[in-house]
Amino acid sequence: MPDLQHTRHDLLSNDKLSRFGTSNRAVNGLTLRHDVDLGPYTSFGFSQKAAHFAEVDSEESLAEAVQRAQTENWPILALGGGSNLVIANDYPGLVIRQVDDTITYQQAGDALETHVTASAGVSWHALVMDTVSRALTGLENLSLIPGQVGAAPVQNIGAYGVELCDRFVSLRALHIASGKWQTMTGKDCQFAYRNSYFKHHDGQYIISSVTLRLGTHLGLHTGYAALSDYLALHHPGEEPDARRISEAVCAVRHPFTT
Ligand SMILES: Cc1cc2nc3c(=O)[nH]c(=O)nc-3n(C[C@H](O)[C@H](O)[C@H](O)COP(=O)(O)OP(=O)(O)OC[C@H]3O[C@@H](n4cnc5c(N)ncnc54)[C@H](O)[C@@H]3O)c2cc1C
Repeated sequence: MPDLQHTRHDLLSNDKLSRFGTSNRAVNGLTLRHDVDLGPYTSFGFSQKAAHFAEVDSEESLAEAVQRAQTENWPILALGGGSNLVIANDYPGLVIRQVDDTITYQQAGDALETHVTASAGVSWHALVMDTVSRALTGLENLSLIPGQVGAAPVQNIGAYGVELCDRFVSLRALHIASGKWQTMTGKDCQFAYRNSYFKHHDGQYIISSVTLRLGTHLGLHTGYAALSDYLALHHPGEEPDARRISEAVCAVRHPFTT
């Protein structure tokens, strides 16, 4: 299967973004904004401000933002979708939001397996929907988990009997202190229940992309009563596939919106 790459528009349009923050200043290609209201970037909509704010769309611009913060002695906060972040006070440093939303598929050595690599800025649910739409098995139980791909390994997201670590191949991360890029395996990430190496090394790395394995050999997981009950009621006698399971997860998670 040939590599396939595509991007999606970010949910916040440039027009909307331009309404926030007091100044835009491009420094060596990096656009920094200052005194930026974080409300629109977090689920809880708190109105705390970031002293400095950068949106980066590549590993190069991410490294540049980190370098700038190091030079200025600013602390760094990696912001994903802001769904698991409580920001109690104004943040005195640089908040970095990754907006690269590239998804790439590659056939693994074994013809049964496909590897998908998603940039940190991809919405997690959009990634799941993309894989399901291609009839690829593996992420369907993780449908509708809020947030972005970059944050998913931090707490080893999981739901309905599947965790990220069950599908994990590797990730790329920038080690902030050294400015070095690392490719980390599952062993390096020390995944545990809703936990990982990154939780124990808070604020030391920024994850830029995650690679996961997909394929029917991973099996389907319908053991949770809520899922099996939904499938038995709505699709009696039918052998479920990834799409059906994703549909069931979405219905169970958001019964009034699906
Ligand atoms: C309604 C609701 C339902 C949820 N259901 C589930 C569930 O079923 N299963 C589950 O596991 N979780 C669940 N969560 C938790 C949440 O979805 C996850 O924690 C998710 O990974 C957060 O992603 P985010 O992009 O919003 O991260 P944020 O809230 O932006 O950040 C979370 C943490 O990760 C760090 N971070 C973010 N991006 C990066 C990066 N690129 N590199 C390094 N660190 C980074 C942040 O600094 C912060 O410490 C739920 C949350 C909500 C609000």
